[in-house]
Amino acid sequence: MMADENANERFDLGKETHRMREAEMARCIEIFNTAPELRASFPVKLQNGATVNGVHGICSRCKRRIDPADVHGRVSWPIAAVAVVEASGICRPCSTMTQLYLRLRPTGDSYRAETPSLDGRGWRFAQPVPISWWRATLRRLARKGR
Ligand SMILES: [Zn+2]
Repeated sequence: MMADENANERFDLGKETHRMREAEMARCIEIFNTAPELRASFPVKLQNGATVNGVHGICSRCKRRIDPADVHGRVSWPIAAVAVVEASGICRPCSTMTQLYLRLRPTGDSYRAETPSLDGRGWRFAQPVPISWWRATLRRLARKGR
């Protein structure tokens, strides 16, 4: 496919699961609806010259890799040294939305990928959304004309 097919510089996201609060779900959907395909933001080049070719979205429920076309998100730079990946992926086979967070930090001439903690503070990870909730949300969005 694209850059994320390049071996050795891939990270599987969304392995951890916990329940999302409603506000987090809304944020997740907003990102999916407004952001481009995440793979368009790669490769990412860090301050030290290290290059990150891509990331994978892994479904938080079934653990399958999410189709890259269904992973939407952005890479931002809250400070110059650290790239933050924020994305939402929809696993079509099991109708689950997974929120993906990762930050990429240069170390030496390489880099380290960091994931959120699960204690509800700082970096945090994703969550299966119940199928019934997801279908209801799609209907609600459809009524809004999205
Ligand atoms: Zn799945």
